Amino acid sequence: MEKDRIQAAKRQMIDRQLIARGIEDPQVLRAMEKVPRERFVPEHLQDAAYGDHALPVEHDQTISQPYIVALMTEALELKGTERVLEIGTGSGYQCAILAELSKEVYTVERIEPLAERAKKVLEGLGYGNIHLKISDGTEGWAEHAPYDAIIVMAGAPDIPQPLLDQLAEDGRLVIPVGGRMGQDLLKVTKRKGKLEKESLGGVQFVRLMGVHGWKQAQ
Ligand code: SAH
Repeated sequence: MEKDRIQAAKRQMIDRQLIARGIEDPQVLRAMEKVPRERFVPEHLQDAAYGDHALPVEHDQTISQPYIVALMTEALELKGTERVLEIGTGSGYQCAILAELSKEVYTVERIEPLAERAKKVLEGLGYGNIHLKISDGTEGWAEHAPYDAIIVMAGAPDIPQPLLDQLAEDGRLVIPVGGRMGQDLLKVTKRKGKLEKESLGGVQFVRLMGVHGWKQAQ
C-alpha cells in the first residue's frame, strides 16, 4: 500500500472502529495511529491490514482485530512507567503498541518462527524496550516480575496461577478465559493481595497452550 492509502485506512480505523466504539485514552489512540500495522501482517494481506477484523498469520495464529487490541490495551491503564508482560507475541503488533505506552515490555511466544519474525519486525522499527523469550508463557517470566500489567493474547481455560503470582500490587491483568469457541475477556486487578474481576465482554481467541493452559491432547 502506498503512504496516502495507509494514512487514510488508519484514520478510518481510529474513527470508525475505535473512537466510535468508546476507546477514549488519547495515548492508546496515538499509539494505534503511530504503529504501522501493515508491517505485521503477511504480505499478501497488506491491503486488509486496517480492516475491522483479525487476520491470519503463520502457524494457524492470528493478529487481533484493531478494536480488541485497543480495548485490551486501554484496560491496562498504562502511563509510560510500567513493566508489562505479554503472553503470545504472535506477529508482534500488540507488543509494539505496548512498547509505545510503557517503559519495558517482556513478551513470551511459544512458536519459534513467529517469535523470530516478530523480533525482526520490531527491531526494524527501532524498539529498544522489548525483551522476547521463546517459552511457555503460562509460566509467566518470573525473572523480571512483578509486572504492573499483564496481557494474555490467547484464550485460557482458567487464569494461570503464575501470572497472578507475578502481578504487582495494584497491577492489571487482561486475559480471555473460557471454552475453545468463545471466551470472556477479564480484567483482574490485584488490590491488597485480593483479586477484583471485571468482564469486558465476549471474545474469540486462539488457544493458550501450555502447562497452565490447554494441553496438546485436549
Ligand atoms: N499479540 C499477537 C496476537 C497473537 S495470537 C499479535 O498482535 O499479533 C496468540 C499467540 O499466542 C500465538 O502466536 C500463539 O502461538 C501464542 N501462544 C499460545 N499459547 C502460548 C503460550 N503458552 N505461551 C506463549 N505464547 C502462546
